[in-house]
Amino acid sequence: MVSIVIPIYNEEEIFHLLHSAIVDAMQPTGEDWEVVYVNDGSKDSSLELLMQYQAKDPHIVVVDLSRNWGHMGAITAGLKVAEGDAVILMDGDLQDPPSVLPDMIKEWRKGAQIVTAVRRSRKESRKLLALIFPLFHKFFGAMSDYPIPINAGIFGLMDRQAMDSINSLQEGNRYFPGLRAWVGYKNAIVYYDRADRIGGEGKLSFMSRVKYAFDAICSFSYKPLRIGAACGVLCLAIAAGIGVELLAAWIGNWSVSLYTPLIGAMFFLAGLQMICMGAVAEYVGRIYDEVRRRPLSLIRQVHRRSSGYGFQNRTQHEEDLKVA
Ligand code: UDP
Ligand code: MG
Repeated sequence: MVSIVIPIYNEEEIFHLLHSAIVDAMQPTGEDWEVVYVNDGSKDSSLELLMQYQAKDPHIVVVDLSRNWGHMGAITAGLKVAEGDAVILMDGDLQDPPSVLPDMIKEWRKGAQIVTAVRRSRKESRKLLALIFPLFHKFFGAMSDYPIPINAGIFGLMDRQAMDSINSLQEGNRYFPGLRAWVGYKNAIVYYDRADRIGGEGKLSFMSRVKYAFDAICSFSYKPLRIGAACGVLCLAIAAGIGVELLAAWIGNWSVSLYTPLIGAMFFLAGLQMICMGAVAEYVGRIYDEVRRRPLSLIRQVHRRSSGYGFQNRTQHEEDLKVA
C-alpha cells in the first residue's frame, strides 16, 4: 500500500481541489492507497470537511492534532500514523503537484527506497520568498557537512524501511529534507515544476521559516561552530605579522608608530579569546551530537550465507577442531 501524508492547516478553500487531484493521480496507478490528512489545529472548517470526505471515501485517514503544532509537528504525526509500504509526503496547497506521484511510485517499484522530488523550476508569487529560496539552497549546499540534494523540500517518497529509520530519529529540531538524505538507502530523484499555491494564503510565518533555515544549518553543519576559531587563527596570524614588524624595527633601529604594539596586542588577545571560544564550541557540538542520539549507522541488509560461515557452522567447525 502507498500512504500519502498531507498536513492541513486552514485549507477549507482548496481542500476539494486537493483531494480530487490526489484521487485523479492515484486511481490510474492501480496501487492500494490511503491518504493521511493531518489537521494541524485548523480554525476554519477544514476538520469538518475532512470528516465529510472521509465518510464518503475509505481511502481517507484523518489525524486530528490537539492544537496547531506547525508544519513539522503535523508531518511527524502523519508519518507515524501512515501504514503504507511506501509513504509519500507532500504539502496540501498543490504546490507539490500530485501528477508527480505516479513517477515516484514507478521509481519505488524499480527498487528506489527514497525518491526525492527536486524542483526544476519554482513559481512563487511572494517576491521576497522567490528571492530568498534559491539563495538559501545555495548557501545550505555550501554549508552542509553531508551531501543533501538542494532545491528539494518535504515532497518525496520513502519505503517502509527508510520511513521507520526516519521515524526512529529522536531529534526535535527537524530539517526533513536533510534527515531523508542522511538516512541513506537506495535513492532516486524525480524532477518537477513547483506550482504556485492554488488558493488561500501561505500558512508559514516568516519567523517559522527562519527557524527552519537555522534547523537545517545547525543540524547538518559544524561550520558555524568553527567560524570563531577560524577568525581566531586569522587574528593570531595578524598579531604574529605585527610582532615580526616590531622585531625587525627593533633590530634595524627603525621607528614605528606608538599604536603598532597596541594593535598587535589587541589582535593577539582577540585571537586567543576566539580560539578558546572555538574550543568550547567543539565541545558544544559534541554535546549536541550526544543529546540528539542519532544512530552511528543504519543497516540496509545483512547478507549471511545460510551455510558456510554462519555462527552454527563456526561452532561446528570448532567442535571438529577439538575432535581433531
Ligand atoms: N501547515 C500546517 N501547519 C501550520 C502551517 C502550515 O500543517 O502551522 C500546512 C499547510 O496547510 C500546507 C503545508 O503545511 O499544507 C505547507 O504550508 P504552506 O503552503 O502555507 O507553506 P508555504 O507554501 O508558504 O511554504
Ligand atoms: Mg505552500
